[in-house]
Amino acid sequence: MAASIHLVRAGLRVLCIEADITDKTPVGESLDWSAPDLLAGLGLPMQRLIDEGFGTWKRHVTLKLADGSTAHYVPGEWLAQPPFNIELRTLHLDRVRLNAAVREIAIRDGVRILHDRVSEVEARGRGVVSVTTAQGASIASPWFIDASGSSARLFPRTFNLPASDYGPPKVAIWTYLTVDESIEGTTLHVEGDSPSYMDWVWEIPIHTETISIGFVAHGDTIKNLRASGQSVDDILRTQLERFPRFRDLIRSAPALPVNVTSYRCRVHSHVFGPNWLVAGEAAAMVDPMTSNGVTAALRHASEAAALIIKYRHRNRIPWIAGALYSRRVQDVARFFNCGIEKVVYDGPIRNFIGVKTAGDVYTIPAWSLNNVYARISPRGVVSSMFVCLLLGAFRIAASVLHSFCKYEQAPCGAPG
Ligand SMILES: Cc1cc2nc3c(=O)[nH]c(=O)nc-3n(C[C@H](O)[C@H](O)[C@H](O)COP(=O)(O)OP(=O)(O)OC[C@H]3O[C@@H](n4cnc5c(N)ncnc54)[C@H](O)[C@@H]3O)c2cc1C
Repeated sequence: MAASIHLVRAGLRVLCIEADITDKTPVGESLDWSAPDLLAGLGLPMQRLIDEGFGTWKRHVTLKLADGSTAHYVPGEWLAQPPFNIELRTLHLDRVRLNAAVREIAIRDGVRILHDRVSEVEARGRGVVSVTTAQGASIASPWFIDASGSSARLFPRTFNLPASDYGPPKVAIWTYLTVDESIEGTTLHVEGDSPSYMDWVWEIPIHTETISIGFVAHGDTIKNLRASGQSVDDILRTQLERFPRFRDLIRSAPALPVNVTSYRCRVHSHVFGPNWLVAGEAAAMVDPMTSNGVTAALRHASEAAALIIKYRHRNRIPWIAGALYSRRVQDVARFFNCGIEKVVYDGPIRNFIGVKTAGDVYTIPAWSLNNVYARISPRGVVSSMFVCLLLGAFRIAASVLHSFCKYEQAPCGAPG
């Protein structure tokens, strides 16, 4: 939808094929610091979103352990000073309302929306000729953007694009609760007793009196709990009961309308062709704990649309421009996924330096590099390669630290 808005504003005729406009299970409620500028570019500045009740301010992230201790991760005040001038606030958003507002802007600006599901992609060589929908419409176009999300991944499947997985399959179970007053900021609740792989609970105040709470765990953990007879509702209740903050809230809530989704963080490469690009989670899924999915999707939308606008009269995207787009999409996602898996989810680093310090080790480079990306806005060869080298260097550092901590904690005589 965001890509459609950029394209239609540049004078292209745009059809957005949208399979599901009901927003049954919207996620992506806690935004990273780079998202507000991208939303403002669509016509949704932060102040308007707050004034019109779309969400709440997010100024920090809090890590809360089951023993009640906390760590706060706040962008430094110095970042707000020249020459950085970085906005220190971002947002938590009610995604149903946000999605409706984005759709309204798209329609107002002239995007035609077709409520249908793409069921087939007709390709010739590396080009896309047309798509066919479930209701039988065949749609040809000189340009295509695939933003069908991580489950559908239409073009990556059609072209069998190479992919790397990060971490195990995971499951998220979440609900919404009414509270007297929400805690400001996003709170991540964790057990804190050195598990080998971490599970966690998010608490996101999408309105001052409504919180989104979700439990995220290794797919096998949920599988075992389901095999022991627990329903997803039981699992969510049991997991939330571990934390004093939720105990009374949960007990006083008779029935929870529970949402559940499973996912695997997967990053595709070569997400471009002569007349198509892949954007958002269809190209690369970053773990929800990074709060980077919405930023990534909006960024891809803007960059993919810019390429089509720039090369619309050439009728094809030059290989180098497509390859640089693909590299940026891939390297940013790999950086976030590698960082969060190695530093936070996986045991060796977290248990060696403590979960609170691990939070710093992850957030400082993650937030800084996201700001560098937003500042530089890489498009050309030099800026793209510079950013990709920086991202790669941090990924290597995380891997080296992971191996070191694993070695240090290995019992004497045990392999590696
Ligand atoms: C549990 C969970 C929690 C998350 N929390 C956060 C968070 O706090 N912050 C954050 O930034 N990100 C978060 N994310 C990630 C974030 O939700 C996504 O990255 C973001 O919504 C962008 O997704 P997208 O637009 O690429 O795909 P989606 O939002 O999945 O949209 C894909 C669209 O394509 C449509 N579609 C699918 N198949 C077809 C087809 N065949 N034909 C036509 N249309 C089709 C779908 O109906 C859908 O509208 C979370 C993700 C998960 C799983």
